[in-house]
Amino acid sequence: MAKKNITLNMDKLVDCPCCSSNACYESEFTTEDGPVSTWLCMTCGFTTNSTMTQDSDILKESFELTAEIIKDNSQIHNNLVWLLTVITMPDKGMIFPEPIKEGVDWQWTVVKAIAIPKEEQEKYPDPKNPGKFYENRMDMDNVKRFGKLEFMDAAEELGMFGKLRK
Ligand SMILES: [Zn+2]
Repeated sequence: MAKKNITLNMDKLVDCPCCSSNACYESEFTTEDGPVSTWLCMTCGFTTNSTMTQDSDILKESFELTAEIIKDNSQIHNNLVWLLTVITMPDKGMIFPEPIKEGVDWQWTVVKAIAIPKEEQEKYPDPKNPGKFYENRMDMDNVKRFGKLEFMDAAEELGMFGKLRK
């Protein structure tokens, strides 16, 4: 087995410490550093994993790239820091939290990816892969918004369920 290989051991739904729903999706992986559990609540959209302890380097690093709204609304349960998730699926679209009133509340915004016509793709260079161009772009003219406890509906709208649905 390759050294970096990650094995999915199990996944199940558990109670969410952020919103008390029972739709928090728990997965456990085995990595080269040992087992890691991850959680993503399908009701409130908060996520964490067992390495996201308070004062951890991983948390400090991810905070450098994290939007203010996500930092401002972080929650701590059992010494783990829970953050609002951001889902990016280049061929499907994105889900991200957006402020309604600054620093106070948020809603879930879904933006879908649409295909860029072949003849226009050269206008969309991929900064990470010089010489390559994007085939999809985010359709910012057609966003859909969902309430803060409607993350599931947002996820469904994006079509991210092939994997999660039983
Ligand atoms: Zn929740």
